[in-house]
Amino acid sequence: MDIFTAIYFVAIVIEIVIRAPLNEKRKRESIRERRVTPQERILLGLLFLGMFFVPVIYAASGWLDFANYRLPDWAGWLGVVILAAALFVFWRAHADLGVNWSPSLEIRERHELITHGIYGVIRHPMYASQWLWVLAQPLLLQNWVAGFLGLLIFVPFYLLRVRAEEALMLETFGDQYQHYMEKVGGIVPRF
Ligand code: SAH
Repeated sequence: MDIFTAIYFVAIVIEIVIRAPLNEKRKRESIRERRVTPQERILLGLLFLGMFFVPVIYAASGWLDFANYRLPDWAGWLGVVILAAALFVFWRAHADLGVNWSPSLEIRERHELITHGIYGVIRHPMYASQWLWVLAQPLLLQNWVAGFLGLLIFVPFYLLRVRAEEALMLETFGDQYQHYMEKVGGIVPRF
């Protein structure tokens, strides 16, 4: 395994460590509304495939070797820098969103609209972090399949998810979310 592939998997472990305590805390919360469509379930499954399962196959077997490419070292290190930024944003988003986080679209009984911390800079830091991740992936996993599958699956997932999530937030928080949308950018800060 080359250094960039190894770093990719270390980053996955870091994300698991960041998320694990929240996942536990979250289970104790009662849910008021849950919106999971079959379409979203499928895309979430595919996302796991593209960001984890296929990269494991790439790293652990020779099955995908036919699709390998080789980038200069600087491109790999650029991938590391982008991945580090993704992890930083991921960590801040979890710290600020706290128990309001959920893997699918959910509103808790005691749901609180978070607009502070990194949520005061962008409204979707977790999705921004995922964008950075799938952009770093082809620089780190230098393979046409393992490198690009994450991006290929994330684009439709992101488009569907953000639309549904913002509709749910507008329904739940009304003017408060409307106002927040006008002030704060989605995945890119507004100046
Ligand atoms: N889109 C956000 C959150 C992703 S987690 C991000 O990219 O960081 C998805 C859950 O977060 C949804 O179920 C939604 O209810 C909740 N959520 C999204 N934005 C929120 C906010 N500003 N405050 C509180 N909860 C939020």
